[in-house]
Amino acid sequence: MKELSGDDASAKSYYLPHHAVLKPDSTTTKLRVVFDASCKTSSGISLNDALMVGPVVQDMIVDITLRFRTHRFALVGDVAKMYRMVLMNAADQQLQRIVWRDSASEPIRTFALTTVTYGTASAPYLATKCLQRLADEGEKSHPAAAKVLRKDFYVDDMLSGVDDIEEGKTLVGQMVELLQSAGFSLRKWNSNSKELLSVVSEGLRDERSILELDSSTAAVKTLGLTWEPSTDCFRFSSPAWNEAAEITKRCVLSDASRLFDPLGLVSPVIIQAKIFLQDLSKHDCEWDEPLSSQLQEQWREYRRNLAGLDGIAVPRWVGTSRSTETIELHGFCDASNKAYGACVYSGSEKNKKSLSTPRLELSSALLLAHLHEKVAKNINAVTKCHFWTDSTIVVCWLSSAARWKQFVANRISEIQHITKGSVWKHVTGEDNPADIISRGMSPAQLQYESRWFNGPKWLMLDNQYWPNSAQINEGSLNQADLEEKAIVAVLPAVSPSEIFGLRSSLVDLVRLTVHIRRFKWNSSPADRSCRKVGCITSQEYDDAVKELVKLSQRECFPQEFADIARHGQVQDSSRISNLNPQLVEGVLCVGGRLKNADVPDGRKHPYILDHRHPFTKIVVVYYHRKYFHAGQQQTVTAVRERFWPTSARNLARQVIHECVQCFRAKPKIQEQLMADLPPERVRPCFPFQKVGIDYCGPFHVVYPHRSNAS
Ligand SMILES: [Zn+2]
Repeated sequence: MKELSGDDASAKSYYLPHHAVLKPDSTTTKLRVVFDASCKTSSGISLNDALMVGPVVQDMIVDITLRFRTHRFALVGDVAKMYRMVLMNAADQQLQRIVWRDSASEPIRTFALTTVTYGTASAPYLATKCLQRLADEGEKSHPAAAKVLRKDFYVDDMLSGVDDIEEGKTLVGQMVELLQSAGFSLRKWNSNSKELLSVVSEGLRDERSILELDSSTAAVKTLGLTWEPSTDCFRFSSPAWNEAAEITKRCVLSDASRLFDPLGLVSPVIIQAKIFLQDLSKHDCEWDEPLSSQLQEQWREYRRNLAGLDGIAVPRWVGTSRSTETIELHGFCDASNKAYGACVYSGSEKNKKSLSTPRLELSSALLLAHLHEKVAKNINAVTKCHFWTDSTIVVCWLSSAARWKQFVANRISEIQHITKGSVWKHVTGEDNPADIISRGMSPAQLQYESRWFNGPKWLMLDNQYWPNSAQINEGSLNQADLEEKAIVAVLPAVSPSEIFGLRSSLVDLVRLTVHIRRFKWNSSPADRSCRKVGCITSQEYDDAVKELVKLSQRECFPQEFADIARHGQVQDSSRISNLNPQLVEGVLCVGGRLKNADVPDGRKHPYILDHRHPFTKIVVVYYHRKYFHAGQQQTVTAVRERFWPTSARNLARQVIHECVQCFRAKPKIQEQLMADLPPERVRPCFPFQKVGIDYCGPFHVVYPHRSNAS
């Protein structure tokens, strides 16, 4: 903070209103100043309205706390007065002015805050971005610290850890040094290892036995997830409630939002609050209207029960380390009409990451898939994943893909994508821990619910004791619940095979086909001894042409093929019945009457092609060019040496019309507009009334017979 002298009024400036908040239970700052950058100025705009908030550059609290559970030795700490350590640009300091005097008798003095200020919209971004930037700069000199700085910080709180003491000592040294280099000080160090903590100088340690894990800057005390270093367990502290005389819907919402449980360790309890709110919305109450006395009593009862959470302790470490090679994850999901939920247990030890109708069950399965993705990402070395649900319909849905209605099909494909096709198994409702979450449970009961904290009993046993998930018999399920998509049978209009779109010239297309046929031939083990290599032979070329013809015919004349196979001839109604088609080596050919003619076989029985198929056009273009841009008649004749396209003339005309070379070679000459004919030529009259003579000559005449010459 610096004092401004005289009138700096010319500069662009903003005056921050501020007041003090007393917080006696804080360990470090008893009195905090609150700056209100959202206060509107005379222009109607506040500083926060004009500031860009900036993106979130740190990981989510869930990711950080999840990773926090994977270390053998935990390390926590926080950056002292983080915002105050970051200097603002001199010009921007004018936007953080305050007025102050020590007593009412003194004149008012103006100051400018020189550092990032809590209460401005951009403050979280500016401060956390500084940590990220510091991590980038310290990447080479302090690699371990840079990694923690980038991944294990939530605002100014560090939640990290190591797998062995020596590594931890190095990390502590590097952290202090790296942060010191930027003027930050990391204090309130704590750890579950006394040895590790002894490295930290005494003034920087936090000797409290219980640490709150939620953001320490929050002004109100919340139901906090706390960590007890001495036992290395998570515990829950219940919040101090706002004891209003009457409980309103707004009051319930405000209470519910104070329950902080990022890992979902006590979700069965939290879910009760959410179900209560859901019920309230059905009752259609106003926000500030007192609830019925019965509902009020119900909510007070819930708040009282939360005190029962004090007895719950969940071990922090999930038993993984870098040396642990095999971790199995077991995911469970369930839904009731009121709620759905999912939870994941890690195989080696009790890792509870915590955490109807068939559609709700499916939604819970999707939730599980997302949850699993998050857990697996943060726990290294996961080798195998198991997914459990107590809904047979969901298992059935997940076993096959595209048969279901939109809602189901979309979610199934998303689940299959996330879980990479893992098998989903069926578990009974009694064994499913997610069942607890979907119904909710009071804190008192939850304390003793080992199924919630440890998973079903069989999870500790060898996999031969796991429930046997036999194939679900689809027939035994309620068909209406299955929501199978109604299949409308239509005769598909087959679109041409992709190969015809790959090349536009017949020669290229045939050569491509030859290479595909060669690859197929050479890859088959039986033919390895006589691989086809080198130049393309004419036999291969002809075979490839025949293959392409066959393919195009199958796409255009499926009915004709079927008729010939059944009756030996096509139906009279067929559009190629007049060609008397017959099958020669699987290809439809023109029958014709040239059997005894002395011409090549291709000429006698040309291949029938449909003029609408792209291949036919490729063929006609080829012959048109081969015969030096022949006209319509000649192109058709050339094509018919070997092929017999339907509507050949029209197709040839179209090809010539589209041919760029032909268009350029025969430009249409602009003709002069002739003048009107003279009246003598257009008005009727008697013969020889008007006579016109054209002069011409002389004409040389040669008589054919010399004898007649005179
Ligand atoms: Zn042409």
